[in-house]
Amino acid sequence: MADERVDILAFGAHADDVEIGMGGTLAKYAEAGKRIVICDLTEAELSSNGSVSIRKKEALAAAGHLGVMERVTLDIPDRGILLTDIHISKVVEVIRKYKPKAVFAPFEEDRHPDHGNASRLVREAYFSSGIRKYNPSSPVHKPAKLYFYMINGFHKPHFVIDIEKHIEAKLQSLRAYESQFTKGKDGVATPLTDDYIEAVEARERMMGKDAGVRYAEGFFSYNTLLLHQDLIGD
Ligand SMILES: [Zn+2]
Repeated sequence: MADERVDILAFGAHADDVEIGMGGTLAKYAEAGKRIVICDLTEAELSSNGSVSIRKKEALAAAGHLGVMERVTLDIPDRGILLTDIHISKVVEVIRKYKPKAVFAPFEEDRHPDHGNASRLVREAYFSSGIRKYNPSSPVHKPAKLYFYMINGFHKPHFVIDIEKHIEAKLQSLRAYESQFTKGKDGVATPLTDDYIEAVEARERMMGKDAGVRYAEGFFSYNTLLLHQDLIGD
């Protein structure tokens, strides 16, 4: 098998979750030459607008705007992201296949229960992936880092990533989801069709403002982070 090791493996419950939470960060790392894979846990077959095939097309276009290497979709049912052995092992197999250095998942606190469930599922799989005797037919892999990004809402993050130079790529990737963020002729109004992209942009502006840059994305970590930047500055 070819060496499939990647730098970042970002999980979302539905296509567009990763872009909403960390599209700018992915664009930034892709530009720096990092190998990135997005894994959508479901096909989002219960979405109020669009269809599975439209959403797949949009998701590939969105990933293209960010410079992502590959995008894969699992067959976990939409609204059925439950913490079962079968689901954990599906996610473990993806982690073991791509051998990422860092894994990203949605933040647990979110108005949409699928996002909280995705958060818990990926956290469980992240742990099991590093256990030698868990599904021993695939080679063990323990990614060094696990971080969480925000989808809905505004929370005080543990740290932010400066995306000032990558906000446009993020917005472009979000606009690729036309079926989700605009209410088409036959579409229904949802929280996403109510200026959602503008709200995300405003949130990242606020995140940036708090940290002294123009735009930033906020993240969470269960581990204490080691500071690499100069604490005092110039
Ligand atoms: Zn979602």
